[in-house]
Amino acid sequence: MVGLILIAIGCFFYFLPSILGRKKRNAGAIVALNIFLGWTVLGWIVALVWALTNDAPTQIVIPVAQVSQPILCTSCGKYSASGSQFCTSCGRSFYVQPVSVASHNLPA
Ligand SMILES: [Zn+2]
Repeated sequence: MVGLILIAIGCFFYFLPSILGRKKRNAGAIVALNIFLGWTVLGWIVALVWALTNDAPTQIVIPVAQVSQPILCTSCGKYSASGSQFCTSCGRSFYVQPVSVASHNLPA
């Protein structure tokens, strides 16, 4: 009878990190560490400390709307909505022509 009580107390202390950390966000990881490394005293201490630390506040990422820059048409000088492929006034394409680097090095 005394042996059973000792085993019960032993189990309680062995799973103390799991009991304390059962409401943590990573409770499953604490329980796993407690079960698999709890027998090493270090693993048990780590699990206990982990169970007692406060959860980091959940980071809520608020997407910031991209500041839409209107596109200035170099042909007619009017602005078009950002993301436009063509000028809404004169119909000129906003596709930027790749400038050849070699053309700048041509002998004068
Ligand atoms: Zn234009």
